Amino acid sequence: MMATIAFIGLGNMGSPMVANLLKAGHRVQVFDLQQAAVQGAAEKGAVPATSAVEAVQQAQVVISMLQSGTQVDSLYVSGPTPLFDHLPAGTLVIDCSTIDAATARATAAQALTHGLEFVDAPVSGGVAGAEAGTLTFIVGGSEAQFAKAKPVLQQMGKQVLHAGEHGAGQIAKACNNLLLAVQMAGTCEALNMGINNGLDPGVLSEIIKLSSGNNWVLQLYNPVPGVMDKVPASRGYQGGFLVKLMCKDLNLAMDLSRDSGSPVPMGAAARALFNLHQVAGHEELDFSSLFRLFRPTEGG
Ligand code: NAD
Repeated sequence: MMATIAFIGLGNMGSPMVANLLKAGHRVQVFDLQQAAVQGAAEKGAVPATSAVEAVQQAQVVISMLQSGTQVDSLYVSGPTPLFDHLPAGTLVIDCSTIDAATARATAAQALTHGLEFVDAPVSGGVAGAEAGTLTFIVGGSEAQFAKAKPVLQQMGKQVLHAGEHGAGQIAKACNNLLLAVQMAGTCEALNMGINNGLDPGVLSEIIKLSSGNNWVLQLYNPVPGVMDKVPASRGYQGGFLVKLMCKDLNLAMDLSRDSGSPVPMGAAARALFNLHQVAGHEELDFSSLFRLFRPTEGG
């Protein structure tokens, strides 16, 4: 069924997600604090808005794709023009940002007082997955809310998974990204060791992919420049999933670890590496640029 969808947050992930909603035939009303991002979406057929409040007019579904819990809380609840005050009861609100579970639960509770249906639905799959419409959505909310959100999310992704009640999507996502960070750090150090011992990184990557060290990073996101086409490593680590966002996610994971008494020694090591890399001036590069920690002159 064609719907009017408001989409707030048109960054590396939001823009290609909007493109897929447009391809599916929806009317998509868009807003971002960056004027250029709104213009880019309008060129693809979205309806540009000059504020979030304007973007949600007549929308049956509102989707947000922002950086942080503070931004999500400000947009819906605590900012100067809280969107929850501007939505008719029954509106479905889907937050796809990766944020802390506490903010997701608090936002869901506020939504309830306004008669709105809210789910947390963080994603996995990266910018390439957003472009190809193959994202995995990890949803927190009631069964009924999950059932309502699923057909919308299926138009931007391949897998739509129900993690549990509100906040559960964010917890599952934090666990996933903790493991992703460990995989990226481990893949970088293993490939660097191979290169230092005379191996071609492409050949070594193929060997490990067919062996027991195989993982998502090697399959889809090789950190060594030139090994794979169309990955950030092969374009100077531009775009993709920024180092600063991975550091944010690792901080979320550390909070969860502390609050639940769960030891995460591997995640803590990965976090230390990403933090070092961030403060060395790489926060705006893709997270696969961690490879530069091992080979500083690699990848321009
Ligand atoms: P991004 O920084 O590229 O985009 C975020 C956008 O939100 C920016 O354009 C910003 O201007 C906009 N924004 C912030 N506050 C706003 C507001 N109040 N109103 C309107 N627009 C606002 O980030 P991204 O890479 O697209 O990631 C978005 C979220 O998805 C993050 O939580 C990230 O952790 C998560 N994520 C990213 C990836 C990835 O590969 N990039 C993968 C999975 C999950």
